[in-house]
Amino acid sequence: MSKKKTAMLLFLLSIVFAAITLGEDIMHLSKSYQALRQEMVENQIKARGITGAAVLGAMLKVERHRFVPEIMKPLSYGDRPLPIGEGQTISQPYIVALMTELIICSSISGETAIKSAPSTAAKRLKVLEIGTGSGYQAAILAEIAAEVYTIEIVEPLGVRAQKLLEELGYKNIYVKIGDGYKGWPEKAPFDRIIVTCAPEEVPDALLGQLAADGGRMIIPVGEAGATQKLVLIKREGDKYIRDFITYVMFVPMVGQKDGVK
Ligand code: SAH
Repeated sequence: MSKKKTAMLLFLLSIVFAAITLGEDIMHLSKSYQALRQEMVENQIKARGITGAAVLGAMLKVERHRFVPEIMKPLSYGDRPLPIGEGQTISQPYIVALMTELIICSSISGETAIKSAPSTAAKRLKVLEIGTGSGYQAAILAEIAAEVYTIEIVEPLGVRAQKLLEELGYKNIYVKIGDGYKGWPEKAPFDRIIVTCAPEEVPDALLGQLAADGGRMIIPVGEAGATQKLVLIKREGDKYIRDFITYVMFVPMVGQKDGVK
């Protein structure tokens, strides 16, 4: 074999070898993301008392690293919120799980209907989210509920989330670019409303779009830059029962503030 041919053969072999190692690296990476997700569920979510099988299953399944910018991927299963661009953040995994559990599985004022049969009962729920952001919370909800309607005010974020959610195969998530203060009147009423940005007061429009027979809303309320109160609201006809859950820190709800109570 001539020197030239040997060099060519070695070159081809090195390409094949590089391709194999790259493949292994990628496999290793995806395996380790799965392992990281498992750890996240055990150490951050179960350990803090979230027990709903539907919520734990969704947190285990949805690939959080797909929802963060490339540079943040290694941190995507950490116990913290992360920047997603446009000055916005993806919430801490525990907060996503807590808010989901509170509206999907948990009970307030002694009501236990959904807690006893989370997966079948939840499968019928129509949910509205205000603040699509990365689309992660919407994906978690879509694993559990029937339909998820989600509104984002920052167009590039909404467009990116919609594209990703489509790519991931979600057919039950509807993204709208707009101001969440007004809700989504054409699609109301909603069994559940989850607000992932903080208004100073609960918007009237959202209260009005909550299903009258046991609709529930989870919403952080308070001033921008300070800690806000995470509040669970349950509607029974014209009655709205409010429960304080904990203190949280969300980005402010921006946009038109008409209709604020
Ligand atoms: N749920 C998101 C995180 C939300 S961050 C996730 O899982 O990634 C809060 C989001 O609310 C930001 O993207 C912000 O642009 C959006 N937002 C703020 N005010 C809004 C409003 N009035 N209507 C709709 N979205 C709003």
